[in-house]
Amino acid sequence: MTIASLEPVLFHARQNRQAIAGLVVLGWEDVTAFVAAAEAENMPVILQAGPGCRAHTPLSILGPMLRYAAERASVPVVCHLDHGYEIKEIEEAIEAGFSSVMIDGSKKPLSQNIEITGRVVSIAHKAGVSVEGEIGFVGYAGTKSSKGTKPNEAVKLVEETGVDALAISAGNIHLQTDSSAIIDEKLVQKISQKIACPIVLHGASGIPYQVRRRLAKSGLVSKFNIGTELRQVFGSSLRDTLANDPDLFDRLAILSELHTPLFDATRKVISNLK
Ligand SMILES: [Zn+2]
Repeated sequence: MTIASLEPVLFHARQNRQAIAGLVVLGWEDVTAFVAAAEAENMPVILQAGPGCRAHTPLSILGPMLRYAAERASVPVVCHLDHGYEIKEIEEAIEAGFSSVMIDGSKKPLSQNIEITGRVVSIAHKAGVSVEGEIGFVGYAGTKSSKGTKPNEAVKLVEETGVDALAISAGNIHLQTDSSAIIDEKLVQKISQKIACPIVLHGASGIPYQVRRRLAKSGLVSKFNIGTELRQVFGSSLRDTLANDPDLFDRLAILSELHTPLFDATRKVISNLK
């Protein structure tokens, strides 16, 4: 039984000058590779079900699926709802067994962000579930541009809501396919000095490995969300597997070939942060 909520895992990581990988799950193959990699590195891991994952598989299936893996793992595993937007889906996630939720009010004006985040904290904490909030807006490569986090707004949101972790916008961008993000490390430091809770960076696939490591080792960032980088490994390994054996057709035979490349890439991601 090693299912954990976000708060103690990130608190412990920050104390030890480490950061925890928040890994985007799209299916069971991701779960097995990610948990095996975390166990091999003897590090906790955060399994995240985001909007894309939820559009494909119902929350009521995802919750028990992630919990099943967490309860059998030898390291702490956080079952996390990534980018929740409505109270209803937060409640559904808690009901389905998630141990941590993100409420993303970052597109709303500050007062409305504080209002919805505060409501989620009160619902989630009663159930022993942690909450990640977001202030500023982390953009999406090629589509929506970012709005940097203002330190005074971060302070207000954290103090008025009691969130357990805060996602900020400091040059990080979702869905980057190369590591070209330039992080405003001074801004991260400034925010970190002003707020009590750990900081999260989304879009970490776009952040160079040495920058992730520096931010983890300095205790400034405690959670890095990583999706694209590992989806690229999955996609390229799938392409190679099919090209290498034109007769291969069985779904399970194909997917079993992807486990080792995904496991190896995930180990690299996790070990860089410890
Ligand atoms: Zn995100």
